[in-house]
Amino acid sequence: MKRKILICCCLILIIISSFLVSYKIYEKKKQEKIIALTNERFNFFKSNEPIKNPNDQDLIYLQNILVEKEKNENININKVKQLISEYVKSNNLEQADELLINEIQKYSNNINYTQEEFKKTLNNNVNKTLAIDIYNNNDFIKNLNKEKKKREEYIKSLTEINNFLVYLEENNSNYVINENTLIIKDDNVLEKVNTYNENLNLQLTIKKEEKQIKPVINNSLTTVPILCYHGVLDNPWGIESLFVRVNEFEEQMKYLSENGYTPLFVSEIKNASNYEKPVIITFDDGYLDVYTNAFPILKKYNLKANLYMISGWINGDVYMNTDMTKEIANSSVFEIGSHTVNHKALATLSNEEIEYEVSKSKEDLEKMINKSVDVIAYPTGSFDQRVIEISSKYYKYALSTINGKENIQNLNQYSMRRIYVHRNSSLEKFKNLLN
Ligand SMILES: [Zn+2]
Repeated sequence: MKRKILICCCLILIIISSFLVSYKIYEKKKQEKIIALTNERFNFFKSNEPIKNPNDQDLIYLQNILVEKEKNENININKVKQLISEYVKSNNLEQADELLINEIQKYSNNINYTQEEFKKTLNNNVNKTLAIDIYNNNDFIKNLNKEKKKREEYIKSLTEINNFLVYLEENNSNYVINENTLIIKDDNVLEKVNTYNENLNLQLTIKKEEKQIKPVINNSLTTVPILCYHGVLDNPWGIESLFVRVNEFEEQMKYLSENGYTPLFVSEIKNASNYEKPVIITFDDGYLDVYTNAFPILKKYNLKANLYMISGWINGDVYMNTDMTKEIANSSVFEIGSHTVNHKALATLSNEEIEYEVSKSKEDLEKMINKSVDVIAYPTGSFDQRVIEISSKYYKYALSTINGKENIQNLNQYSMRRIYVHRNSSLEKFKNLLN
């Protein structure tokens, strides 16, 4: 009997300790993930020093990125620094321990315990109630739980800041920095930077570049505007600017139709110079409202367009379903292209992951619509040399979100430029986009 009890006790001990060990491992894994993520981002900035522990993040930021940026570009990053150092502070567990011990000591002094006695109290069953009482009424301990939340928020904002810096790097041809002001050329970039600025409370000064009026010196056609739409919906469920109003869209299509424009499929771009006013209309993502709102208008004005579907998201809540996709693909209104399987930023993926996103979406879409899929639009416009090389194995053309018209004589075959059409664009503004 005694032996049985002993075995039982041993078993319980083993279970408890293995639980504790696995919890520790879980915490460590989480920490490692954050470090890995940050490392990945820093590599983008060509940092030579990988981050070894969370406290180094502050150092690396200051040494390799922020100081650089400040020196070269005078960007106002005090707020960024502050956020990061606060994060590091709250992530400094050693310091937290020290504070805890001090706090305990303070408490034990107040009630005439020495620290040793207090610690004993915590372990002494007789005084357990008293110890728990002290523990529960200790403000610092109470705050520790709140601190945890704070820490998580900092980690989140750190990741967001990384994303923002990566975005700035990727789009560095679209802005200049003058003292503390970011002067942005492209509407799309302007909007995105504004969103980051607001969400991260960075307090950067952001301005739109004032366009110089260019005199027309050459009448021969060398470029084609590739318009980029997402949704056509009066009451958007997502980022508002991505959804053009139904009447705006109709106004724009009517204008194209009545003013001699010839909309083309992307696969026809090489013939664009055969037309006096070629234009290419594209839609990313495959939202349901493109089927319900844009498709009838395009049919009404007899216009062609191009649609880039996220193969893994077809049949999702706000997306077209399989039948709609098939119908659209067979309508001769739309040429269907790929927008990958999962809409991940391709440049942030490994080669294997890029290969999967690019090839599997083509395969699945072709099976679905029974037509060849030869064009891809990079999700969020993210691409690098690897993405181009892999895409060129499967597609004839690839679209980026780099702002501008595409040059017909000298095509950027795997990084074609596009022009965003935003919600609330007046017809005047729309006309300007075409010119
Ligand atoms: Zn997209």
